[in-house]
Amino acid sequence: MGMDLYTFIGVYFELPKGEILIDKTITGCKKCKTTSSKKFCENCGNKIGSYEKKFKVDITLENLIDIDEFSDFDGTFTSPEYLPNISFSNSDDDFRFFSEDEIVFNIDPKVVEEKLEKARNKYASLLETLKEKGFDDVLKYGVIFYYA
Ligand SMILES: [Zn+2]
Repeated sequence: MGMDLYTFIGVYFELPKGEILIDKTITGCKKCKTTSSKKFCENCGNKIGSYEKKFKVDITLENLIDIDEFSDFDGTFTSPEYLPNISFSNSDDDFRFFSEDEIVFNIDPKVVEEKLEKARNKYASLLETLKEKGFDDVLKYGVIFYYA
């Protein structure tokens, strides 16, 4: 398998653990509730269109937001495999390392507040969208140990 334990220190998003119902737009027959890419339904002959269907999904950043809508910052997010409710940016200048060495990392409260303030500004539109969906106070600063 070759899984290594990594350490991340920095700003991350923490959502509650659990599931949520979300609407997804399905292309298919509205009447038969099927998925189809053809022009007409094979069951009833109706014209293929689109309809909304509810899906139960894990509460994750990926499932709650469409990352492409937030073009004001670049990059993507990582979610540890066993911590899907946790996400952190791949592009921020935070600290992430795999090491078998002994490390001392001083966490200065002033630096923590600066990093959080910077992230609140950077992710303002994303945080607003999450708030509209009922997820407030999701930005944290801390240490995450994860396998990758
Ligand atoms: Zn049909």
